Amino acid sequence: MSNAVSVDPKTGLKQFNTRAGKASDKIQGKGYAVVDDEALKTLPPEPVGAVFNAAEQEKYRKFKEARVGSADYIGLEGQFSKYLDDVYSDDPVPREPLDDECEILVVGAGFAGLLLWYKLTQAGFKDVRFCEKGGDVGGTWYWNRYPGIACDVEAYSYLPLLEEMGYIPTMKFAGGFEIMEYCQKMAEKFGFYEHCLFHTTVDKTDWDEATGRWTVKTDRGDAMKARHVILANGILTTPKLARIDGMETFGGDAFHTSRWDYNVDLKGKRVGIIGTGATAVQAIPELAKIVGELYVFQRTPSSIDIRDQRETTQEEIETWKQEPGWARARRARFAKISAGRTAMRANDDYLAGKVADFKERKQHTTELSAEALVQKQLDTNFRIMEQIRARVDAIVEDPKTAEALKPYYPYGCKRPTFHDEYLPAFNRPNVHLVDTAPRGVNRINENGVVHEGSDYPLDVLIYATGFQWMATSTFNMIVGRNGVSLQDKWQSEGTKTFLGLHSHGFPNLFIISGPQGGGGSFNFTNAIEEHVDYVLWMLTTMRERGITKVDVRAEPEQEYAEHCQQADSLTAPLRDCITYYNGHGEAKPGSLAYYGGGQWHKFRERAQKTLEPYIFD
Ligand code: NDP
Repeated sequence: MSNAVSVDPKTGLKQFNTRAGKASDKIQGKGYAVVDDEALKTLPPEPVGAVFNAAEQEKYRKFKEARVGSADYIGLEGQFSKYLDDVYSDDPVPREPLDDECEILVVGAGFAGLLLWYKLTQAGFKDVRFCEKGGDVGGTWYWNRYPGIACDVEAYSYLPLLEEMGYIPTMKFAGGFEIMEYCQKMAEKFGFYEHCLFHTTVDKTDWDEATGRWTVKTDRGDAMKARHVILANGILTTPKLARIDGMETFGGDAFHTSRWDYNVDLKGKRVGIIGTGATAVQAIPELAKIVGELYVFQRTPSSIDIRDQRETTQEEIETWKQEPGWARARRARFAKISAGRTAMRANDDYLAGKVADFKERKQHTTELSAEALVQKQLDTNFRIMEQIRARVDAIVEDPKTAEALKPYYPYGCKRPTFHDEYLPAFNRPNVHLVDTAPRGVNRINENGVVHEGSDYPLDVLIYATGFQWMATSTFNMIVGRNGVSLQDKWQSEGTKTFLGLHSHGFPNLFIISGPQGGGGSFNFTNAIEEHVDYVLWMLTTMRERGITKVDVRAEPEQEYAEHCQQADSLTAPLRDCITYYNGHGEAKPGSLAYYGGGQWHKFRERAQKTLEPYIFD
């Protein structure tokens, strides 16, 4: 047996030493800086009398129609598979393949994996094993290390287990590097590393009815048995590239933002970045400071709201140290905020419990129908977008560039972004916006990008082209009862889960934050916690009752899937643009994220009380 795998003499359980070393000292970075210029942190007033009237609606419609069918992506396969290499860690630690058994096998060592480990061990489940594709913990915060990376949800509510860790983030919107290191600290403190197989990608998971076990196969030759499998491998995990003619011919350096190659020195270089989503919005201001010339290839502008970054104050640190439960209470208050923009702007007085509610709620004499509520929301969204568009005019000096940077779709239809240095970056002489609306970049050749007859020679090309949404690749490799894969089931019957956590025919399989998984708020950690708590409840219930198998019945699953479909359809006008949230306009209603709000809790509570949806063996 190699050193990488040993047996704990006390428990007899295998322990692992597979955390990879750090590959490069060049890995460094910072998140949002604090911006002092008040003008950059102040929104123009809401335009008086702005209404989402027929003319404005028509403008949005045209903006959308022009982009229909423009989303064309490819996976990082074949000659592009090199863009998937782990550039952050040393080579995998050699180890022998495993064919033994554990009670619980978890896929993924991000926030969900770490939280699962903490809570499962607290509840007495010790025989838990993790498989992680990367060389260390952190999940999204392991892979995404681009300059400027930071959390958009305030860190005091976002980072899990702050009190258990005795940790207070240094900034309100903590940088990604701090978050990654925090994940490592959690793993060290709670003894996670000994239970995780790093650089190990699960590639097949088969259910065996006779033994009531899953067999989990990996790219390291493992064929491990597990009674329960928990998928905690994220929702924006698999990077994608835009399909652009000639992209394989580019002669310079190229990489995807989720595999940032710090061996490529960008100083003084001609750099192109394709895409202007949440990632690019954070990276561009930092790139602008170091590269020679920066070409930003934009197809659709993001909405750029105020960030107002700040450092954690000494007063907060002192107060929180003496206030047991501060982080939990803060997260609970955060979860009560019902509007995305309000949540992301994160009012400190409210979150600290100093004021009961920071926004006067209007009292309506009549109860609004669901449709009327959506309409009201669209009107509000229009006024927010007017402010956001006015901010572009107030900051960006060149009128043509300013016009191109204005988004025309409902607020929140695409992931809203927050930055106080992004728009000013376009006033720099070395930053050039190349407007490729509405269809995107046409061609790439050996020298760089070619668009509408103009050549943009580049030394480095960065793909900020995003990730597959809610399409974790493991879904097509999970084979449940009767030899049916999860993907096949969902393709033939439509996406069907119960609470997003179970799928009928796949016993003892739990999905954390997958399609149809509700219960969260604008803080993703919230959903993860809800799901982890649910799984813990289920496993504890089974242990107490001597139950070894759980599946969900087909009827409650059908009822829940129909509910997801209705909730999605009802709120679809809020996502009436080309966005990955609606599969770029092609997803079946209810097949991706959950839009039923608090209803999820009602389904869950009823199920936990009656146990009716479950088939226990
Ligand atoms: P996105 O999918 O949001 O963005 C991809 C970008 O690539 C879009 O701007 C898209 O344009 C553009 N694009 C695609 N093809 C072409 C083409 N042919 N020519 C020009 N442009 C093209 O990916 P991101 O990585 O930016 O963000 C993914 C998600 O990750 C976010 O939505 C967010 O949920 C999360 N995230 C969170 C952060 C945080 O909390 N701080 C930070 C960063 C990311 P178009 O819009 O027209 O399709």
